[in-house]
Amino acid sequence: MIVTEEQFPESEFLWKQILADIRSKLNRQRFETWFRRVTLLGLDESKLRIGVPNVFLRNWLQDYYLETLKESVEQVLSQALLIEIEVIDAPETESSTNGSSSDTSVHGESRSAAPAPSASPGPGTSPSPSPSSSPTLPLTVERGRQPDFHLNDQYKFENFVVGPGNRLAHAAALAVSESPATVYNPLFMHGSVGLGKTHLLQAICHTLLERNPNTRILYLSCEEFINHFISAVENGDLDAFRNRYRHGDIILVDDIHFLANKERTQEEFFHTFNTLYNAKKQIVLSSDSPPKEIPSLQDRLVSRFKWGMVAEIEPPDYETRMAIIKKKAKARGRDLPDDVAQFLAENFSQNIREIEGAVLKTVGYASLNGSPITLSLAREAMKDVIAPSANAVTFDAILQMVAEDHDLKISDLLARRRTKQIAFARQLAMYLARKLTGHSYEEIGGYIGGRDHTTVLYAYEKVQKLLETDDNVRVVVDRFVNRLRNGSS
Ligand code: ADP
Ligand code: MG
Repeated sequence: MIVTEEQFPESEFLWKQILADIRSKLNRQRFETWFRRVTLLGLDESKLRIGVPNVFLRNWLQDYYLETLKESVEQVLSQALLIEIEVIDAPETESSTNGSSSDTSVHGESRSAAPAPSASPGPGTSPSPSPSSSPTLPLTVERGRQPDFHLNDQYKFENFVVGPGNRLAHAAALAVSESPATVYNPLFMHGSVGLGKTHLLQAICHTLLERNPNTRILYLSCEEFINHFISAVENGDLDAFRNRYRHGDIILVDDIHFLANKERTQEEFFHTFNTLYNAKKQIVLSSDSPPKEIPSLQDRLVSRFKWGMVAEIEPPDYETRMAIIKKKAKARGRDLPDDVAQFLAENFSQNIREIEGAVLKTVGYASLNGSPITLSLAREAMKDVIAPSANAVTFDAILQMVAEDHDLKISDLLARRRTKQIAFARQLAMYLARKLTGHSYEEIGGYIGGRDHTTVLYAYEKVQKLLETDDNVRVVVDRFVNRLRNGSS
């Protein structure tokens, strides 16, 4: 790689993080097709320069992936950079073409608007998309020994943190990887975005391939199935299509909810399913909703999807989030202090991809500034990401509201004086400060009358326990949280 003087000392590290972020956003095949041959030329505080081997690739990235690149740069560096894409090595004189990007449809079923990837090339062949390779999928791909899909090395069982929300799905996926087509067939996993569905599908693939590298795995996104089917219909090549999708030891289709409202493709998938199922092959599907909630999914598919095991994945609880955050930071070679991990776990709860993004961004921000990872740094790195309403809650607002509500003065809460009523109001204020401001126990203790962090921790845990056992407390706390978050008093 070319190193220029201007770049950040950690530019290579940061570039890898940017690539990892892009990879997490794209379907694997697209990532391989469009980003594998991109190299870093330079990275400084105003500009990211990357190189690609040909004009076609440059134009394609410019037209379709500039936004993705920008987003990932911002995600990792917490700042926007100018992005320059340069053609390096042997410049090609080909006329740049995007191939036919016009949508085609099968009875109104259109290809996804994003550029479809060309199938990933076999080992040893040039992976660059030549001008003649239109974005339609070739129907027969010679793959040699390698599978024609890319698995993210991180998406293994050993990197998957198990908690109450995903325990069932994890156990079922593990069982399938250990003895396919015996226990749960089909395995249908559903849950909202960023909760680990793709991770589990790929973990199954990794395990199967580790055990037997010759396992014939069909791993694809539903989008690929649809696009491929449409191409097959257009090209009158259904035999090849069926030959491909009906022969394998296991088929894993990610995001099967994309079958919604796609009648013809549903019909085709129904036959694919039956053929494989009858041949006692394992079928694994992931979806953002349970079978019966996929819009206009044919009843016969709904019922088949429920034949085996349907496992829901729910958002991770606090402890699981903490474990995930620590693990992800460690995977990037950094240990996060507890208060930083807590801050992130409290502010990101619904989507593990976002949690991961927050860790990445915090770590990247620290690298960029050459500073240690502290709570205030994390807060600074997250300032544009965390909803301002959640962030804008101040100590003063909390103290004022709690004091008013208890007919006390703010000074009562800060003072040493201790009646039962004041003590509880103070604990409530500490709890709310911890929950809503992102400040550490220490900082809160310091602010609320110079108290020790253990006092704040004790208060926090006490209120937390009361919330579970006392409905009145819950009502009061919920009301406070809502009023503070929404800025109304
Ligand atoms: P989905 O397919 O459900 O949208 P992904 O499988 O792409 O979600 O997961 C999003 C990100 O979160 C991935 O980087 C994945 O590794 C990570 N992730 C999800 N669940 C877990 C988990 N339980 N433990 C560790 N990482 C996880
Ligand atoms: Mg996914």
